[in-house]
Amino acid sequence: MLHRTIHLFRKELRLHDNPVLLAALESSEALYPVYILDRAFLTSSMHIGALRWNFLLQSLEDLHKNLGQLGSCLLVIQGEYELVLRDHVRRWNITQVTLDAEMEPFYKEMEANIQCLGAELGFEVLSLVSHSLYNTQRILDLNGGSPPLTYKRFLHILSLLGDPEVPVRNLTAEDFQRCRAPDPDLAECYRVPLPVDLKISPESLSPWRGGETEGLLRLEQHLTDQGWVTSFTKPRTIPNSLLPSTTGLSPYFSMGCLSVRTFFYRLSNIYAQAKHHSLPPVSLQGQLLWREFFYTVASATPNFTQMSGNPICLQICWYKDAERLHKWKMAQTGFPWIDAIMTQLRQEGWIHHLARHAVACFLTRGDLWISWEEGMKVFEELLLDADYSINAGNWMWLSASAFFHQYTRIFCPVRFGKRTDPQGNYIRKYLPVLKNFPSKYIYEPWTASEEEQKQAGCIIGQDYPFPMVNHKEASDHNLQLMKQVREEQHKTVQLTRGERCCSIHIPCADTQTVLRNLGLWGSALGAFPGCFSMLDTNIMSSSSGHC
Ligand code: FAD
Repeated sequence: MLHRTIHLFRKELRLHDNPVLLAALESSEALYPVYILDRAFLTSSMHIGALRWNFLLQSLEDLHKNLGQLGSCLLVIQGEYELVLRDHVRRWNITQVTLDAEMEPFYKEMEANIQCLGAELGFEVLSLVSHSLYNTQRILDLNGGSPPLTYKRFLHILSLLGDPEVPVRNLTAEDFQRCRAPDPDLAECYRVPLPVDLKISPESLSPWRGGETEGLLRLEQHLTDQGWVTSFTKPRTIPNSLLPSTTGLSPYFSMGCLSVRTFFYRLSNIYAQAKHHSLPPVSLQGQLLWREFFYTVASATPNFTQMSGNPICLQICWYKDAERLHKWKMAQTGFPWIDAIMTQLRQEGWIHHLARHAVACFLTRGDLWISWEEGMKVFEELLLDADYSINAGNWMWLSASAFFHQYTRIFCPVRFGKRTDPQGNYIRKYLPVLKNFPSKYIYEPWTASEEEQKQAGCIIGQDYPFPMVNHKEASDHNLQLMKQVREEQHKTVQLTRGERCCSIHIPCADTQTVLRNLGLWGSALGAFPGCFSMLDTNIMSSSSGHC
């Protein structure tokens, strides 16, 4: 019997590599592609901010357009998801609801509720994983039911598991022709709302445009430069370039406009044709594997996004200081490098990985000793790529609460940015109030004389704040605190401790071979002075002068 199906888009806002949508089309005589715009859910569970709202609406509009080209449409129904489903299942005689399987607790709860509703109203539910490379449950199973807590162990498990799931084929007009599409009247009634309909300020528009079309375009642009792809080495990318020095694909992965599996296999094809290519942890595939690592750990760690009740996270008495937190958030720390990054984040919703390092270290173990949870919440609100697992995982890392153990390395808010942008062009762009300072003062304008400040048209303490802390004193003090915490909580520290760092280049044809080699070499690598610590790879670029 063929179904009458509601396909519920949640995160996978795309038509390429969408296995559950394909399954829905193959099993249905009528298909209603639906996005439930549940504002309370999106605000309370995902803490979605204005930039991401705009990005989401653009992604929905793009999905609607792309569905239109295949003879269907997207129905955006506003309301509480359970009420919406209850109502439309009855109205449209629905026998099946299909949806993407997600790992966040709030999405899992939603799916469980939909299952209950299905039992009550008599429809079937089908969900499939496609937001990560693997179904993370398989990784957990192979690791004895618990998550591998170091990247090295994680790669070893993957080497046993084999390659990730292969992307499913692209959907075609023929796929949609087999099922009845929603009435055009419905499409009119349930059109994608405009930002103004949702009272979202048009000013909060990021230069990044949402949607599968834009995501695929960016993907193709990067993949044409095969030399760049094969030599990509994350620590060598630049945090303060005026255009992203990494792929900038994260917002598209985060909202599922792009499939990570598609990207992974496109990279494999390029690697297969190259004599040499970079490898995890620093290669592009290595970045996707970091993503997968955090997804896996988050999927099986209780209270992953908080300190309390989180078994892998150090329990630290962070300071509670709303005023200092506010200054950090609003780019008022008085350190131009930190404030420029926070301004880019607020205006555009994306910052480079090492820029994230700089501001996260400053807020937590470096200077302010404020909880990583506070920083994570600010990122959640402002980032276009905000992601439950990756955000929390990286915040724990940066604050040395878990995963990262070279805690004596603290980023200097003056010297860090200088190395890759000595003229301070990045600061001049995002903090125009400082733009007339000579380069020698741009990272520490408070050291300019009164006369020089007048000439630059910016008086420190009046037009731009003095530094909110003495970095040397604050970081020395915090280092002692951290040392003490780690001595006291030695057992927690050990849980996520990996080896120290070096990078090994193995010329070889494809990733599976690499992973196999890594698996085989697992014990040999243990003897090396380390390889698989993400921050280490980033520090390699930064430690030479400014840590
Ligand atoms: P590329 O270097 O081009 O990498 C390609 C893809 O690999 C990325 O799009 C991303 O999906 C994945 N990736 C790259 N680095 C990491 C990493 N360290 N951990 C996990 N996955 C990675 N990334 C998010 O997607 N969402 C977040 O909420 C997020 N919060 C972060 C918070 C902090 C404090 C830090 C230090 C990092 C955070 N990251 C987050 C990770 C990383 O900074 C971004 O994924 C990366 O900068 C995105 O840019 P890109 O797409 O150009 O990355």
